[in-house]
Amino acid sequence: MVKYLPFTLLLAFFLIPNQNSAQATDPQIYKIIDSISADRIESDIRKLAGFGTRNTFSDTVSQTRGIGAARRWIKSEFESISKDCKACLDVFYQKKLVTPEDGSRIPKEAYVVNVVAIQKGTKYPNRYIIMSGDIDSRASNTMDFETDAPGANDNASGMAGTIEAARVLSNYKFENSIVYLGLSGEEQGLFGGEGMAQYAKDKGWEIIGILNNDMIGNIEGVDGIIDNRSFRIFSEPTPPNETEQERNMRRFYGGEVDGISRQLARYIHKQVETYMPEMNPMMIYRLDRFGRGGHHRPFNDLGFAGVRIMEAHENYNRQHQDIRTEDGVEYGDVVEGVNFKYAEKLTAVNAINLASLAWAPPAPTNVEIGGIVEANVRLKWEKTKDDIAGYKIYWRDTTAPQWQYSRFVGNVSEFMLEGIVIDNYFFGVAAIGKNGHESVVVFPSGTFRK
Ligand SMILES: [Zn+2]
Repeated sequence: MVKYLPFTLLLAFFLIPNQNSAQATDPQIYKIIDSISADRIESDIRKLAGFGTRNTFSDTVSQTRGIGAARRWIKSEFESISKDCKACLDVFYQKKLVTPEDGSRIPKEAYVVNVVAIQKGTKYPNRYIIMSGDIDSRASNTMDFETDAPGANDNASGMAGTIEAARVLSNYKFENSIVYLGLSGEEQGLFGGEGMAQYAKDKGWEIIGILNNDMIGNIEGVDGIIDNRSFRIFSEPTPPNETEQERNMRRFYGGEVDGISRQLARYIHKQVETYMPEMNPMMIYRLDRFGRGGHHRPFNDLGFAGVRIMEAHENYNRQHQDIRTEDGVEYGDVVEGVNFKYAEKLTAVNAINLASLAWAPPAPTNVEIGGIVEANVRLKWEKTKDDIAGYKIYWRDTTAPQWQYSRFVGNVSEFMLEGIVIDNYFFGVAAIGKNGHESVVVFPSGTFRK
């Protein structure tokens, strides 16, 4: 991606002095990137791997081994971060009982316990942007809760990144709430995410999105490719719980690749290209890896936006494997397989998106589009009562993966783009704060006529 570097820098340079441009860069974002520490991430990964196994059904009594010791340590880390920011984090366990009837990978009854740390927003405390990693790990056999399963990359890396993001972002104040989440029961069937997503729904949380981090530390693929720049953002095309009517609307008005999770993925991609041009973010147009699962899915199931952030090159010898050597090949998810500098980069990817979204105003609601048999396209939306800079219309070719064109249109609730034909592009609208931070782009959910 080095070849794109000069162009991106040039773009960023020209955007800075333009007050009307919505994507003026924010120096605080660079400061956040610089504050994320590979050393602290390394130390946390070593600590987590040191609990021997973090299988969901492992020991909960020991102070040194098993998932109980691991979650108590994670909770105490969040509590000590909170102490340093005048109790800015609300830290608690969220749990749910599972029994063998709940799934084929549940050997015995146990509580699936998540660790939650919430940094309350100053203006919109009920609007949440979430970063998650997993507490649990597994050996070759998921049902085996005794054998060592350090899970250094899967997924101590995501957990350590989440803790590190909390350390850095707790030094700032945000308008929206940020949740730092340690989820359990992932390897047994996504039970922690399921419990937490339901908890959020029951509490009436307005979720901006969840950035689920699952394996963010491996740079050496099983095929030998080494790459410390690329990473993947997985997002499903459209929400699975949409109505038959919404599905039918899409046939006539488009939106096959414009669901809420996809818009979140585009947001992350754009932030990274703006602020971390040395990285190569890959938008993957699918829920997750082929036939595989992750903890963003239970959130998607309930209609929340959510993506999976992960390394680009996986090493299957280091995933879900007992530690052993066979025919000269080393197996096992050990600390030596983690690149801490890369985990630092992907943690920064999360942190800058959490910050920007937590500083952004609420996305526009009731976005509608008009312009059938006209030379121009018109968009309208519900204006917020809040004091914001205004709105920005985005559009792109129907075959383009990323928004290509945009226009800041001021603090209005309707706008016509002259000479732009509705048939030839996809459109969306974002809200822009006075601080320059933008909401996720909203794809129209309705149409109107003159
Ligand atoms: Zn796994």
